[in-house]
Amino acid sequence: MARILVVEDEEQLANLVARQLGTGGHAVTIARDGNAALEMLARQPVDLVILDWMLPGLDGLEVCRRIRAQSITPILMLTARAAELDRVLGLEVGADDYLTKPFSMAELQARTRALLRRVDLMKQSAGRGESRRDILEVAGLCIDVAGRTVRRGEIPIDLTPKEFDLLSLLAEQPGRAYSREYLLQRIWGDEYVGFDRTVDTHVVRLRKKLGDGGPRIATVWGVGYKLQVDP
Ligand code: CA
Repeated sequence: MARILVVEDEEQLANLVARQLGTGGHAVTIARDGNAALEMLARQPVDLVILDWMLPGLDGLEVCRRIRAQSITPILMLTARAAELDRVLGLEVGADDYLTKPFSMAELQARTRALLRRVDLMKQSAGRGESRRDILEVAGLCIDVAGRTVRRGEIPIDLTPKEFDLLSLLAEQPGRAYSREYLLQRIWGDEYVGFDRTVDTHVVRLRKKLGDGGPRIATVWGVGYKLQVDP
């Protein structure tokens, strides 16, 4: 069971989401606006925040920023337009994932589960004194994060340090779209000067090295990239 805060002023949607997650066994509370949400979080931390972009008073963007300034609580952002995704996923806001309205309850459940699983893994590895998982396995690809090696089966794939960072970041959450801006900040940080073609050229090289064996790096138009695992 997880504690989840739903921040949404549309009463029907808030209730629907709360009911849905409640039947999944989670303890759900609802805040109708940003200030109420921040007050509730100050009193009682939660495991996950589901945050609507469009709110009266403080908008979701600002609420997200303020939560991030104080904690790493995962934030699932609800947005109305795909055009907002770049800002949501970028460092400007720092949301962990997003859903574009309208979304299905199955989709909501799946994203919630994925985010909560990540929290569990983070807590487990923190307990072992590790900052992240050591081995990521995605579609036959084995990424040893600590040893910084990649293998497909027994065959090693030779990557540059930045290619490795890019692949292991994408592989943390297969299927999640990352904006170029976010990837640049996370991987290149302050060393980065130039155009966002940096990410594109690394993706091109990485695709070539990964070959056809899957997983593949898919382009998310208008946003950036994700690691696609074909069924
Ligand atoms: Ca709203």
